[in-house]
Amino acid sequence: MTKFSDLNLDPKVLKAIVDAGYESPTPIQEGAIPPALEGRDVLGIAQTGTGKTASFTLPMITLLAKGRARARMPRSLVLCPTRELAAQVAENFDTYTKYHKLTKALLIGGVSFKEQDKLIDKGVDVLIATPGRLLDHVERGKLLLTGVQVMVVDEADRMLDMGFIPDIERIFGLTPFTRQTLFFSATMAPEIERITNTFLSNPARVEVARQATSSENIEQVVMMFKGSRKDREASEKRKALRMLIDNEAEKCTNAIIFCNRKMDVDTVAKSLKKHGYDAAPIHGDLDQSQRTKTLDAFRDGSLRFLIASDVAARGLDVPAVSHVFNYDVPSHAEDYVHRIGRTGRAGRDGKAMMICVPRDEKNFDAIEKLIQKTITRIDNPMQTSDTLDEAPAAEQGEKPKRTRTRTPRKSAAPKVETAQVEAAPIEAAQAEPPKPHDAKSDAPKAVPHTREPKAQTNTHTNAQPKPQAQKEARGRSGNNNNRSRGGGGGDNKVVGMGDHMPGFIAMSFDERRTG
Ligand code: AMP
Repeated sequence: MTKFSDLNLDPKVLKAIVDAGYESPTPIQEGAIPPALEGRDVLGIAQTGTGKTASFTLPMITLLAKGRARARMPRSLVLCPTRELAAQVAENFDTYTKYHKLTKALLIGGVSFKEQDKLIDKGVDVLIATPGRLLDHVERGKLLLTGVQVMVVDEADRMLDMGFIPDIERIFGLTPFTRQTLFFSATMAPEIERITNTFLSNPARVEVARQATSSENIEQVVMMFKGSRKDREASEKRKALRMLIDNEAEKCTNAIIFCNRKMDVDTVAKSLKKHGYDAAPIHGDLDQSQRTKTLDAFRDGSLRFLIASDVAARGLDVPAVSHVFNYDVPSHAEDYVHRIGRTGRAGRDGKAMMICVPRDEKNFDAIEKLIQKTITRIDNPMQTSDTLDEAPAAEQGEKPKRTRTRTPRKSAAPKVETAQVEAAPIEAAQAEPPKPHDAKSDAPKAVPHTREPKAQTNTHTNAQPKPQAQKEARGRSGNNNNRSRGGGGGDNKVVGMGDHMPGFIAMSFDERRTG
């Protein structure tokens, strides 16, 4: 078995790895670290949970250990799709640079430019950024990317989902041709393939098996669920979720509960709280300080249930999540892989439980096809008339469910089974068509800013950024700062972490160590 000490990493990095408690490199680390240390470009096809962050941070630190940062000219750059992921990469650097004197800056929306400018002015070894905020700094003339020796693109498939590809192309163009590129993506959509063909030079391609197919340590089950009546489905589904949780009571130390829509994230969180569960929501419409607070509480174990949308949960690294509940079947099979990858991390056992309503069966089939596995069906204990009758009462006081006025009268007929069979598919098709990737509408909204696009409707398969996003991206040329901003907000108007920004974000490594 390969050991970290076989990989030619800097001795101080090895010491930090020992402190982190890692025994041996993960497959992506074993595959990516050696070519990265040789100065080669790397194309890593791996998901979160595989140890991919360390697969680029460890060689970067080793390479950057020699040399000094110059003012306004960072020596390396890591691009991340979301603030949470960027903050997490920054934390990784803190962990692995504890015996080095390297400096870093984190450029994300929601943090004041002034603090970030100060760090950049001093000169940083590592710059971790979301694409929009990075380009803002460049356009303000505060940052030069001509000194970048190593550039990392993390979670490129999410960048694509969020419409960042034009920004990424532009950033590539601002860095020296001679830079080394470490490029990571969970999937290789044609657009991603095009980018790698254009900007990577003879990369070492390192692919680790899809997490869902390889993670034998994640037990996957699904409950096929039908509401007794259309107007009761939502409350009964929430009850079904509670039953799933209760059945796992002893084993479920903490869990992430995924919903497809932000509205449902809020409703499910509220409902669970009302029923005495320790739960809080996280999605892109929440204030950044609130998101940070919730994530911190979940990480330190003081919050048991995190109700999340896909994008908000991106980059969330909580190694000890015992369960993932899919309250909804994700509309993109790949999101299922991402979601369940939140449990069973770093070799631990995990359990993923999903509720599937009739209208989601098509998406469910797509998931089984993707993971090439049959997910174990479990019984729905609520499918008795007794429990069904109790369901709405249990939810008393909650917001009225969405009613569908189109429901034909006959759907309320006493023969419940017949009514469901007739009504559900029609309604599913007409009242709630398959949504575009809802998670995208969850891109950080707190920044009224055209640079961190939100509400894209492109999909993995039809992945071109929307024309508007392309237009915006094209409009950002050179130092021309005349681009239009959506929503009438001023250029620097940012809403976000404010005073609640976690301290480590604005600190250099040195400050953090001594502080
Ligand atoms: P990532 O895929 O980068 O999000 O990492 C997933 C988790 O695995 C993080 O909690 C890391 O701290 C952890 N990790 C990374 N490398 C190793 C390793 N070699 N051994 C054990 N855990 C690791």
